[in-house]
Amino acid sequence: MVQDVTRQPLPASAWGSGENALRNISRHRSLSAASATASCSQTYDTTSARVRVWGRTSFGRSWLRSLVAASPGFLAPLASISIFITLAHYDGSFTMFAKAVCRQGFWAVCIRHGPQLTWKGIAAVVSWVGLQALLFRYLPGETHVGQYTPAGHLLSYRINGLSAWIITHVLYVMMSFAGVLDPAFIPRNWSSLIGAMNLAGFIISTFAYIKAFTMPTHPNDRKFSGSAFYDFYMGIELNPRLGDKFDLKLFSNGRPGIVAWTLIDYSNMAYQYQTQGHVELSLVLVSILQTIYVIDFFINESWYLRTIDIAHDHFGFYLAWGCFCFLPTTYTIQGQYLGLYPGSASTTYLISWFLVGLVGYAIFRSANNQKDVVRRSGGRCEIWGKPARCVDASYRTLDGKVHKSLLLCSGWWGWSRHANYTGDLLLSYSTCALVGSSKTVVWIYAIWMTMLLIHRCMRDEKRCSDKYGEEWEEYCKRVPWRFVRGIW
Ligand code: NDP
Repeated sequence: MVQDVTRQPLPASAWGSGENALRNISRHRSLSAASATASCSQTYDTTSARVRVWGRTSFGRSWLRSLVAASPGFLAPLASISIFITLAHYDGSFTMFAKAVCRQGFWAVCIRHGPQLTWKGIAAVVSWVGLQALLFRYLPGETHVGQYTPAGHLLSYRINGLSAWIITHVLYVMMSFAGVLDPAFIPRNWSSLIGAMNLAGFIISTFAYIKAFTMPTHPNDRKFSGSAFYDFYMGIELNPRLGDKFDLKLFSNGRPGIVAWTLIDYSNMAYQYQTQGHVELSLVLVSILQTIYVIDFFINESWYLRTIDIAHDHFGFYLAWGCFCFLPTTYTIQGQYLGLYPGSASTTYLISWFLVGLVGYAIFRSANNQKDVVRRSGGRCEIWGKPARCVDASYRTLDGKVHKSLLLCSGWWGWSRHANYTGDLLLSYSTCALVGSSKTVVWIYAIWMTMLLIHRCMRDEKRCSDKYGEEWEEYCKRVPWRFVRGIW
């Protein structure tokens, strides 16, 4: 039954998060049978509810289709190597890189200029991942719960990312002042670091693949496509863990790569300072926007448990190599480029793009907050000064239980179905524009985010449609636009 539901807001103190939310929701459950959220669901056995398959299976995927879909598994590392060579040896010009490849052949160029695998690089990456693993495992933090998995598991996570980020950056500053660490260590050793990060991505992906067969954490939450390549690429286990506490996916997604993101920017600032005596305004503004984005991620780490990466994507090469290698090498191209080729456009141009970035961030944060608040309050909250309007939805997990959920259709989620992506894209384009160059390499982050978010939108909508059926269709009827109202 599809219903448009508005509820009386609960006092903000009743929302809480994670386990607190679970308690608060059950305290207020008598107000409405439909109050439970996806992460704090009301469940009941039913045999009459229709069965929808969502999450685990990928029926109908041919072997060839799977292989093609898995091709980024070898194309992405080649792309990352090509970007490195273009930046470091061809003035950031793909045209010059392409000419060299035509003259000498791709492998010859790679052997001559490609990232080096050195013991120094390996030691740095092992120390880095080891430090992040220790902080992840032992720093105190609140416990929060994620969402029901297709098999009906509700996992808890310790949230301590913000303290890990702060400790890491304080250590970086202290070691730099003490003369133990060159603050420009990263750009000075970038070639060896890229080599070692690639290796780390492959090792973790292989480990995840073998673990899925030999010691799966939740065997009934695994996903097999029928193609070994595709399974390696997209992952088999949903939430692989080492023991009870060490969640490999949250660690990979939320630590080595994303904490390194801001360090790479700051290290490039230090490099610019060492090489030209001052830091360009362009690099300062890029670093500020990216710092806001990264800190936001850690402040809202518990919200991240309800995003696609943690709630739905399985853990394979896509996430493991992506977070260990692609993120730190590609999301930081703006800083890398400015470190190597310093320069700033006019102050008016820079300030304008900086403001566009802030607007993008505000949309991104506000849309993500609205969804989070609605889910945590069971819909009893105000969105843009009015009671939230939602479609009541339900879904079934493998254990046969039916859970209630809410699809918000007011505020940003009534403006378009993915306004959070629109805000993210504005921010991405502004950080690239701040570099002040028309070279393609500088725009790779924005181009990548456009492809990633369009593809993500498509596959998420397919998954939501499988999960919620007619209730999702009802939501799409009410909110027909995907990214920008009136355009798409
Ligand atoms: P969302 O946060 O939009 O999560 C999508 C999920 O939200 C859906 O699967 C569904 O999950 C639920 N949902 C969908 N519509 C509604 C609705 N109307 N009301 C309530 N819940 C709804 O997407 P992502 O997880 O992809 O992204 C989270 C943020 O992270 C975004 O802002 C994105 O821009 C950013 N991001 C950044 C990346 C980067 O590399 N920089 C990469 C990926 C994302 P359910 O099953 O719970 O119903």
